[in-house]
Amino acid sequence: MPKRRGLLVILSSPSGAGKSTLARRLMDWDAGMSFSVSATTRAARPGEVDGREYFFRTPEEFARMVAAGEMLEHAEVFGNRYGTPRGPVEARLADGQDVILDIDWQGGQQVRRSVLAHDVVSVFILPPSIADLESRLRGRAQDSDAVIAGRMAKSRDEISHWGEYDYVLINRELDRAAEELRTILVAERARADRQPWLSDFVRGLNEEFEAR
Ligand code: 5GP
Repeated sequence: MPKRRGLLVILSSPSGAGKSTLARRLMDWDAGMSFSVSATTRAARPGEVDGREYFFRTPEEFARMVAAGEMLEHAEVFGNRYGTPRGPVEARLADGQDVILDIDWQGGQQVRRSVLAHDVVSVFILPPSIADLESRLRGRAQDSDAVIAGRMAKSRDEISHWGEYDYVLINRELDRAAEELRTILVAERARADRQPWLSDFVRGLNEEFEAR
């Protein structure tokens, strides 16, 4: 029987809206899902490991990957470059594994226009309020005031792109948002065009009819 292709789940939100936590919840729910590790030119934060949170690359290495066509999408965010390495994503989708992309709206637009457009399920996550967003950013205690101010400014720009996404969640309460996200995936997996084995399956049902 033909296998289904994996879903390419794009999660975008302003920083601090709970996107990474929701991505982790999805992977806890279905261990077959995996996260695409992006390449970036930004410096590693304390505790971040090369190859786990990001592939930390020099601007020269990053530019070489872009020139060689190795990036599915890439964008500049907060003065640094970020991109999704194409190879691992394509291999996992072809193998029927769902892949989560935590990328900004610029990357979302590029992936939606790419050859993988049919695999995309895009979800935008909104914070319940701007006060909530700011307190979550401060709660991380990783960034300076200047960095937080920069992220807040970028948030408004990010939020303005909500209408480009297939689904929009308001993350008022983590458990509830995580459940909504799972529900979206369950529904997307059940779409007729994502189940290439259906014709064979229905042929079998018809054979059963005829044998009666
Ligand atoms: P951070 O530096 O806080 O880890 O990420 C900053 C922003 O960059 C987040 O909004 C994140 O979604 C975005 N980002 C991370 N990786 C990628 C990527 O590969 N492509 C794009 N377009 N954005 C990314």
